[in-house]
Amino acid sequence: MSDVCIVGAGAAGCEAARLLASRGYDVLLVTTSLDTVFSCGAERVVAAMPTDTFGGSLAPSLRPDSDGTVASWDVHSAAKYALEATPQVHLLQSNVDDLHVEERSDGRFVTAVETWEGVPRTARAVLLCVGPFLKASLEVGMAVEAAGRPGEMAYPELAEALERFGVALRTERHEGGGGDAPTWRGSFARFAHGVVHDGQVRGWQNLFAAGVVVHGPMDYGSAARDGARVADRVAAWLDANRS
Ligand SMILES: Cc1cc2nc3c(=O)[nH]c(=O)nc-3n(C[C@H](O)[C@H](O)[C@H](O)COP(=O)(O)OP(=O)(O)OC[C@H]3O[C@@H](n4cnc5c(N)ncnc54)[C@H](O)[C@@H]3O)c2cc1C
Repeated sequence: MSDVCIVGAGAAGCEAARLLASRGYDVLLVTTSLDTVFSCGAERVVAAMPTDTFGGSLAPSLRPDSDGTVASWDVHSAAKYALEATPQVHLLQSNVDDLHVEERSDGRFVTAVETWEGVPRTARAVLLCVGPFLKASLEVGMAVEAAGRPGEMAYPELAEALERFGVALRTERHEGGGGDAPTWRGSFARFAHGVVHDGQVRGWQNLFAAGVVVHGPMDYGSAARDGARVADRVAAWLDANRS
């Protein structure tokens, strides 16, 4: 059993994984594809990320162009390499599509997350950092696909599971692209206002959430800082609930 299962290796999830691992917790970091760890979705991204974040720590491995940008793929591979080299982090490619839940007198308790292989993964706490991937739909020209970002597929099961447990979600719309890239429009579900309080899902003992899935579109630095802030909350919960 891991101390914490983090679902989604984007900016928020990677930051939380790094912080919790550095404090000695065992982290299972499950993400849909190992090819999209720390993905920004664009071809190139601004290389300068906040120095106090996981992204900022990758700077020595990156060689920005004269315009200050770097290929997203280089950021992704540096991030994946760094996470795989972190002993307390176990990076797993899978999709979380359900939660195993016990109803307890003091609130719901997640005993495991279920992955699409049908394997339940047990953890003492679960942190959802799933970005714009719940009920995601993306429109590029005439094409509409279930994707959180261009080329990154999204699957409906986790959102369906949350709603089955009565967790309220709301639809968020956003758009991007332009310039050399095609314009796209998208929608996704995030937690409804007030459902997540200070990083913790209300009415649940050990279910936490951070990043875009809580706050809607935000930049990399803000998502990372939110991941770190909620990781602090998770650490406090783990310390207070040692079995
Ligand atoms: C096209 C584009 C370009 C951008 N460029 C920049 C930029 O240059 N600079 C900047 O600061 N910000 C940029 N951003 C914003 C930045 O990408 C986001 O702020 C940041 O990625 C949000 O982090 P997150 O961790 O909340 O979500 P995400 O980074 O989206 O991570 C969510 C992760 O969860 C995974 N996931 C989802 N559901 C499941 C599931 N059920 N099971 C397992 N894994 C799951 C997804 O595959 C994904 O890897 C850009 C955004 C877009 C869309």
